[in-house]
Amino acid sequence: MSENEHLKREFTDEERRRLVDYFNLLIEIDQREKARYAKLKDFPKGFAMDGEGRECGLCFRPVYDIAGWFDKWGFKCSNCQDAVNKRKIPGSLCSDYRHEKSIPDTMLASKLNISVRTIRKQIHEGKIIGRRIPNGPYMILRKDNPNLQR
Ligand SMILES: [Zn+2]
Repeated sequence: MSENEHLKREFTDEERRRLVDYFNLLIEIDQREKARYAKLKDFPKGFAMDGEGRECGLCFRPVYDIAGWFDKWGFKCSNCQDAVNKRKIPGSLCSDYRHEKSIPDTMLASKLNISVRTIRKQIHEGKIIGRRIPNGPYMILRKDNPNLQR
């Protein structure tokens, strides 16, 4: 038996049904996202939107039961939106899910399996440049830290 033998079989009816449900869900999510971007034509500065457990596109904390904000940069929690409005952090960093532009120190700590305190110590010592989201994490931008390479 080859190692891929287990892949060479027909889907069961149950598996087909679940696949159809899954693709219908993806289509629904995509249509809702397109509708949100279409709504921006009437509300160019964005609009309040229930979090429903989705992650903030900046600090990546989940937003439940309270409204966040959706604009051309995507969905943000109200705290991060406030930081964008006050020009503490660029809105363009939002929805950077692959962390090509920036990463919150809390997430970086988790990925490196080190404490946030260790990273903040480096920030306070000026070894890493971080931009603080008030009441939130420090955002570490690649362009601020050319010495930090992948
Ligand atoms: Zn946030």
